[in-house]
Amino acid sequence: MTTPAPGRIEIITGPMFSGKSEELIRRLKRARIARQRVACYKPDIDLRYHRTAIASHSSHTHDASTIAPTSDRLREDLFGSGRIHETDVIGIDEVQFFDADIIPLALELVHLGKRVILAGLDTTFANEPFGPVPNLMALADEVTKLSAVCMVCGQPAIHTQRLGQSQELVVVGAAGLYEARCRTHFEPYVDEHLSEQLELPAVEIH
Ligand code: ADP
Ligand code: MG
Repeated sequence: MTTPAPGRIEIITGPMFSGKSEELIRRLKRARIARQRVACYKPDIDLRYHRTAIASHSSHTHDASTIAPTSDRLREDLFGSGRIHETDVIGIDEVQFFDADIIPLALELVHLGKRVILAGLDTTFANEPFGPVPNLMALADEVTKLSAVCMVCGQPAIHTQRLGQSQELVVVGAAGLYEARCRTHFEPYVDEHLSEQLELPAVEIH
């Protein structure tokens, strides 16, 4: 059996409202126009707008399987039923919520010749690296870092500002809880308990 040509890992990152989901949807739609077979996933904690689609804040959508954000669950869905053999392009939205083993899984998929497109936040509202995203950026073929528009001054925004005092760890897309901010107007939301929980566990990369 010949080894397939390697695929690619593409990361789409930036703060909330920067157009990550929009860009992921655009790339997946173009892949389908090129008659490539697409599998799209989103974590089951992101249930805004649609249960069976990824959606942008501007209401663009793409069908998606909603799964628990663990690499085991993703592996099971792709390999368990042989879906992997009928898939050319794998897209994941909100990849920051996946565990660290998504990193070796992404590398495994790329060695199987797949195009892996991952969209997610690079930093938390406390301005810390978010889950596996920074490691994935380091290992990717291509990184697209988008900016949003600062809601205070209108300049390009690279930060996600958490508004209000919610103590919940993950409040996805809740209206009015987050907004995009530039460096000047960003005030990191500091909470020791939250920061600890968002630390990335050690992972072996082969
Ligand atoms: P992300 O996935 O990065 O959170 P989306 O793709 O869901 O972003 O949404 C991007 C869209 O959000 C933009 O096209 C625009 O219509 C809207 N939007 C709302 N607030 C902002 C903002 N502060 N900066 C840029 N776009 C915004
Ligand atoms: Mg999004």
